Formats: sequence, C-alpha cells, structure tokens
Amino acid sequence: MTNDRSDAGLRLDGPLTQFRGIGPARSRALERAGFRVVRDLLFHLPARYEDRRQVSTVSQLRGDGEVTLRGHLTEMQRVRVRRRNLSLVRGSFSDETGSLPVLWFNQPYLVDRVSPQREYLLHGALRRTKGGRLELRNPSCEPADRALHSARIVPIYPAVAGLGPIPLRRLFGRMVSQIDLVRQVGEYLPGELLRRYALPPLGQALRMLHAPDREADVEALNAYRSPAHLRLIYGELLELQLELALLRREEIRREKRHRYRIDDRTRAAARRVLPFRLTGAQRRVLKEIVDDLDSPYPMLRLLQGDVGSGKTIVAALALVVALESGLQGAFMAPTELLAEQHFRTLSELLGRHYRLALLTASAPARSQAMQGLAAGEIQLAVGTHALIQEGVEFARLGLAVVDEQHRFGVLQRKRLQSKGDLPDMLVMTATPIPRSLALTVYGDLEVSTLDEMPPGRQPIETELVPASKRREVYARLRREIEAGGQAYVVFPLIEESEKLDAASIEDLGERVRRYLGKISTAILHGRLSAEEREQIMRAFAAGDVRVLIATTVIEVGVDVPQASWMIIESAERFGLAQLHQLRGRVGRGRAASRCIAVHGRLGEVSRRRLQVFASTTDGFRIAEADLEIRGPGELLGTRQSGVPVFRAANLVRDQEWLQRARSDAKELLARQGDADSKPLFDRVRPRALSRYEQFAGG
Ligand code: ADP
Ligand code: MG
Repeated sequence: MTNDRSDAGLRLDGPLTQFRGIGPARSRALERAGFRVVRDLLFHLPARYEDRRQVSTVSQLRGDGEVTLRGHLTEMQRVRVRRRNLSLVRGSFSDETGSLPVLWFNQPYLVDRVSPQREYLLHGALRRTKGGRLELRNPSCEPADRALHSARIVPIYPAVAGLGPIPLRRLFGRMVSQIDLVRQVGEYLPGELLRRYALPPLGQALRMLHAPDREADVEALNAYRSPAHLRLIYGELLELQLELALLRREEIRREKRHRYRIDDRTRAAARRVLPFRLTGAQRRVLKEIVDDLDSPYPMLRLLQGDVGSGKTIVAALALVVALESGLQGAFMAPTELLAEQHFRTLSELLGRHYRLALLTASAPARSQAMQGLAAGEIQLAVGTHALIQEGVEFARLGLAVVDEQHRFGVLQRKRLQSKGDLPDMLVMTATPIPRSLALTVYGDLEVSTLDEMPPGRQPIETELVPASKRREVYARLRREIEAGGQAYVVFPLIEESEKLDAASIEDLGERVRRYLGKISTAILHGRLSAEEREQIMRAFAAGDVRVLIATTVIEVGVDVPQASWMIIESAERFGLAQLHQLRGRVGRGRAASRCIAVHGRLGEVSRRRLQVFASTTDGFRIAEADLEIRGPGELLGTRQSGVPVFRAANLVRDQEWLQRARSDAKELLARQGDADSKPLFDRVRPRALSRYEQFAGG
C-alpha cells in the first residue's frame, strides 16, 4: 500500500531515526521534548480532529470554505514574483465535472513532483479572486490512494520540536501503518474492567486515536468521549488511584496501639466546651472523624472547608475526645500569628478543663513546655513548625491536627506524625480544593468537607472597578469610614524582593493616605518585626486604626469582624484562590460587607478570573474555576510536588471517571493478586513504593 520501504520493520523501542525524514538533529530535538523511542510517541495525541470525509466535485463548489477534491493536476508552473522569500506555483485542477485554478505559496518542488497521470486528493481553502473566480489556495496535495490529510477524519496534532501538524501527521501515519499497534502494545488493565465499561484495549485505542475509522464519531473524538479516549483517561486515573491506594495501605496497615474512650462521659465533656450549636455539616464531619478514631487503624483525614466554615471547633471537639481518653493532642499552624490566634481560641474553649501550651520560636517558656509535653503533663500543644523540631517529644500523642495543610509539605506532616506511635492525623485546609483534585493529590487521605456556613454570615458584595475610577472608590471609602466603618486596602507585592516591596508599599500607602485625609491608617507588611505587626493588628482590632493598608500578609489568620470593607489594588495580579482568601477577611461581622477589586488593563485570562471572583463567594466554585483556568499543577503551587500530569485525563471534565477509578482501585486492592489484575499491579507497585519512600523519608 505504501512505498515507504525504509520504514519497514519499525520497532516500538527503537530510536526515532527509524523514520524516514528524521535525522539526528530532529531526533535530538524530539528527545528534548520527551520523545526518545517510537513508543514515546504513542501518547502524543491529536488535539482535535477534522471531518474531511466528504470529497466534493468542482460542480458542487459554491463559495468560500475548506474543501476536499479528488482529480488530476495539470499546467503546473512556477510564477515569477518580485518579492524575495515568496514563490508561487499555479496549476489547474480538474475532475469529471469541471476545473479550477490552484495556487500554492512556497512549495516550488510541487512542479516536479506532481504527475498529470496520477489522481490526487487536495484539501484547502476556496477563495474568490479579485475577478470573482473561485480558486483553491495552498491545499495539501497527496496521491489519492494514500489519503492522510484528506478524505478521512484527520487528526490535528499539537506541534512539537518544530514539527507542525502536517509533518506530524506523516510521521504518525507511518507509525500506524508500519506497526501493528493492536498486537504490539500490550494491555495491562484487567479484562474485566475493560468489559465493564466497554473500553477497547490500549493498542486498539491508540490506533483509533491516531487513525480513526471512517465510521468514527467525530464529535465524540473532539469531546474526548470516544471509547478510545475513555480507555486512556480511565487507565491513567485507575493507575493513579491504585498507586495511592497502595500508598495508603502502607500507612494504615499497622494497627495503632492507643484507644479512645468514646462514651457518655466523653460526649458530656464535648458538650461542656461547645459554645454554640454545630451546623449539620460540622456534626456530620465530626462523626466521620470520631468513627476514624474508633477504628483500629490510624486516621489520615483531610478536612476541607471554606474560610469561616468552622473547622477549628470540629478539631477542638476531636481533641477533647483524645484528651478525655488520656492521650495528648497537637495542633500545628503555618504562622506564628495563626498559632497564637488558635492558642487563644483553644484556651478559651478548653483551658478550664485541660492543660495547654503554646510552642513557637518566639513563645516564652519554651523548654518548660517541652518538658511538660515529654512528661505528659501538658495535654495539648499548639504551635508552629516548632512542634516538629528535634527534641520536642510527646509522652503519648494520640491526635495531631495540621491547620492550613497546603502550606506544609508532606514531609512536615510525616514529621509531626513521627512524634507519636502511629497517631491519628487530621489535616485541615481553607484553600478549597475541588473534590476531584483532592482525591488525586491527597488520594492517600480520606476527605471530609464542611459545605455549610455557620448561621448569620453576611453576604459580601464584590465590585470590579477600573483603575481610572480609583478616585471615586476612595471617596466612597472615606464616607464609609466616616460613618464608622473599618477597612483593608491590599496591594499585591512580589515575594522575591521583600525589600523593594517594603519600600513600594510605603509609597503606595502614602498615596492612599492622601486620598483619605485625616483618617487614621497603618501600613502592614512582612518586613516588620513580629512585635510591630502584633501592635498594628491590636490597634486595628481595637478600632484605633481605621484603615489597614497591607500586603498579602493578612491573607492568613487575620480575624477582625468589624472590618467590613476591602479594596484590592491591582486585582488582576492576584490568583483567584488568593483573591478569595483575601476577601475572606471581611463578611465576618454583623455589617454588610463590600470588596472592591480595582484593576488595570485586563487580558483574556485575568478578565475571566475577576469575573468569576465577582460572581460568587463560594470557595468551591472558585476553586473549580481556578482549576479550569490554570490547571492543577499551578493551583497547588510548586510546593505540591507529585501533582500528576495526565496525557488524556482532565480532572474537571473527567470527575465521573475519577470516581469510578477510585472505587475500582479499592475493589482491586481487596482481591489483589488474581491473574487478571497482576499486570496492573506489577506496573503500579514500584511507583507506589518510590512515592512512599519519598514521603516517609526525613
Ligand atoms: P475556619 O474554618 O476558617 O477555620 P473558624 O473555625 O475560624 O473557621 O470559624 C469561623 C468563625 O465561626 C469563628 O468565629 C467560630 O467561632 C464561628 N463558628 C464556627 N462554627 C459555628 C457555629 N456552628 N455556629 C456559630 N458560629 C460558629
Ligand atoms: Mg481556620
């Protein structure tokens, strides 16, 4: 069928130079792009497909548009043009119904290559000349018996290593015709699962993707819903979920030695500290946690809930269960400011019944606290990273809580864990992570979600205002303050140059002050000492400072309920999640709240981001949108290594398949070892082990 003899006998694990037309330089460029052997190419999937199945005749042509024609080419000739870098070839195309002029740019070699005897397929754009005649412009041109670019469903590949869609299509065309993918690409998914979802085996799926059948459903292909796509998507998700399930089993396989006392006395103790009625979501989540505590295996649970959803009290009640059972608790927060705030809150709740200590770098009586912990006299330690330093020992740590988990690495979680003998772990995050992503990245954790706000929250009005209207914004702010309000003004600053930032916020702050006249303001940024910060925060909380001008240092931990206005400057420079966290500082008190995002010129992406921000205060909706706009890697920041990169799967689009993969992985694990699932386990187990070592080390 083809006369590319030199490609005969392509080997999947052989170098790319096996392909005609790929020399050493190209092959090196492809290797840099991650393609070393032919097998690596298999998963470079078409971005989309064009339906060029229909072949027209000249008599059918009416107006502009893309067409495919089959017929002969004659009168091929180069045309002289004055411009350098431009060459033209003209020819005449004809089929049984008529003829049509054809024009090519910069393909002079066509003149020698095209033979008048041969039948060709042309695909290109139909244009009208100035004289009103139809003309075919720059079409692809291939022998009719070797249709690759036309007369079929045509895959459009994303460019790689300087190769555009057309050379790539040639390359993949050769691959598919020279290699029997169905036979040579092994399948490792259990046959039973493929049958369950009516999915083709891998080799066949790849064939269907690179060389779709005539009868294939183009819409399904373009929506990534073809059976072939679904095989790849499901395969990727199942591998990952199985890997995570193996990892989790590694962690929870050993039974914990401590036990909890969960009885009426414990329940009474919990009721005694409870300052308000729990929401339904809080009750549900607390029950999930207590069930875990009651189980023979250590808990590893992620509690996620939007800013202000009331995670602290849930953690506090779980800690009461531990303390009532004669065990110790630990509560770790990412910043001193936040640790101190938690210590105050927890002392108010629990201080009358239990012995608490604060453990941070700057907290007083540190060695005393450490002694108390080691001796078991202190029941609950609240602190920062200081909790996981060398030398901090617990007599009998039962439950460890990590707040704002996304600010810690997995290693730090592990280190806290190692302060006890298989303690139960509750990690909390206020950066709402879409459930799909939580399952993926934290797949080794169980996930609880607080999806209900405590009663009495005020809605926050959000406005987008262009910088040209800034003056009006500050005039309104001044009236608001004169009427008794309090406000934040936030500036984005680049973390890498704190020094520069300190200077520039002072500058910007001065400008704000000019707008505000005599109103009392203060400027807060990361270069201030802990004491200076504390002093400013106290003045703001007391109402002495009316407007707090700040960098994003206020993103975490600041809680001043009577402040109900926020202006975010250069809002287009913040990420969506960060905007949401910032806005979470208002809407905490009784007053109606307002957040004004002042922005400069907006690009496509920043406009979308701000529109989402203004349209909802639902952290989960925001996180979903963020995931769609930015993709999972960026959403979690660089600290979260181990965010998987998928070839086919998409965590937003494929949530349904993610759920399936997750429950199927559990099922496979339960009956591990049968012949059907062995190839999959053999493939995944080494990865799970190396991930485990990476997590467990240090
Ligand atoms: P986050 O989930 O952001 O950590 P917090 O635990 O700090 O939220 O709770 C936010 C505020 O809501 C706190 O002042 C807390 O006392 C209050 N709160 C939490 N749960 C309830 C509830 N069920 N009813 C009333 N107020 C609540
Ligand atoms: Mg919190």
